[in-house]
Amino acid sequence: MAATSRRPIGVAVLGMGNVGTEVVRNLNDKAADLQARVGAPVELRGVAVRDLARPRGAVDSAVLTDDAEALVVRDDIDVVVELIGGIEPPRTLIRTALQAGKSVITANKALMAVHSGELSEAAAASNVDLYFEAAVAGAIPVIRPLTQSLAGDSVNRVAGIVNGTTNYILSEMDETGAAYEDVLAEAVRLGYAEADPTADVEGHDAAAKAAILASIAFHSRVTANDVYCEGISAITADDLVAAKKFDCTVKLLSICERIEADGVEKISARVYPALIPFEHPLATVNGAFNAVVVEAEDAGRLMFYGQGAGGAPTASAVLGDLVMAARNRVNGGRGPLESTYASLPIAPIDDVQTRYYVSMNVADKAGVLEQVAAEFAKRSVSIAAVRQEGAGESARLIVVTHRASDRDQSETVAAIEKMDSVIKVSSVLRLEGTND
Ligand code: NAP
Repeated sequence: MAATSRRPIGVAVLGMGNVGTEVVRNLNDKAADLQARVGAPVELRGVAVRDLARPRGAVDSAVLTDDAEALVVRDDIDVVVELIGGIEPPRTLIRTALQAGKSVITANKALMAVHSGELSEAAAASNVDLYFEAAVAGAIPVIRPLTQSLAGDSVNRVAGIVNGTTNYILSEMDETGAAYEDVLAEAVRLGYAEADPTADVEGHDAAAKAAILASIAFHSRVTANDVYCEGISAITADDLVAAKKFDCTVKLLSICERIEADGVEKISARVYPALIPFEHPLATVNGAFNAVVVEAEDAGRLMFYGQGAGGAPTASAVLGDLVMAARNRVNGGRGPLESTYASLPIAPIDDVQTRYYVSMNVADKAGVLEQVAAEFAKRSVSIAAVRQEGAGESARLIVVTHRASDRDQSETVAAIEKMDSVIKVSSVLRLEGTND
């Protein structure tokens, strides 16, 4: 291997948990390869943790510190890798590092989904890199394909399964017929879900990733607050059984797309559990896996699939960013920063054209179907399929609609809920991945 005379790149890693431990291991084990790829030695010079007393394996105790603030501004640090998680202290630490001229790599979706604007500005002002490939879908390369490979194309839609916990829960419910609560408890026991699973099951994690994807795909600033979000906690085993009768399964989808509403081009970013047909490419993504389907004007449909979480897979994406940032420092300059020139407005969910699946318990008497159908017709929502099941107290009606505005669909459901012959609307889901 040719020796390089270039100045070494000093790296600080903040956080040594699931991901940080793997990044540190790679920096030690692959030092020679990293040097060859970067064109200069890549040296781990500091690791910040919260609790210095905890054993840290093979890490030289001389590099450990509990003072992350001092570490990120040290003169011998070129690149800071933030793997702490949450908003603070990472937001302040990253801003401080960027202002001090360090390039920054982060896997922090919660932070990037809200504060990418101010952090990108700080990176631009210091002419350094801010990379975050690992913040969306773990090991799966999706940020760099969108920002670089597709930089000459127009992306119209990015839709995917970007939360492994909820995908594991829905896959298990589908396969075993078990109830949501039981599968969630098992997921916590197996370590697939956190002790407080709220961010995953209520869709907040997927919404953060949707915001990041939409910003990049559509060259506009989209934050987590702009993303319409519904989680999976209301999904029942019955919903999955009913979905099968329509040749569908249920997945928590993050959807980002350009839409036209009232003659204006807008961005719709939304997260919700939806029925998708068995033949859709996302229907076969099971367990804790992630997948993202990108639709671009000239490239057509591209699918990215793989491990969306876990220490080693996530570290792979972090290391990729680290090599890019280190190369840029060796060669001078930096990679592309945030591009928000399009500044498209955000569409409310009401503007989106969707299909609905509505399941309701109804009185077992003649004429109910006609009354329900009349409510849909009133708002020009046309019905694609109807199933009637059971009798007496367990009489159930399931309606699947064609595409119509979400406003008209939801107003129809609200009207149906008030009908005397409808005992209860037990489930309302959207249907995605079809052309009608
Ligand atoms: P984690 O296991 O909880 O580790 C967090 C680390 O941060 C711990 O080492 C902790 O120190 C340290 N820390 C906490 N507060 C600190 C402070 N004030 N100063 C210095 N260190 C501090 O987290 P993780 O799972 O590795 O996740 C890290 C980041 O990667 C998060 O943004 C997460 O969203 C993202 N991510 C994770 C995954 C995954 O599969 N885990 C996938 C994609 C993205 P102690 O060890 O002393 O407690």
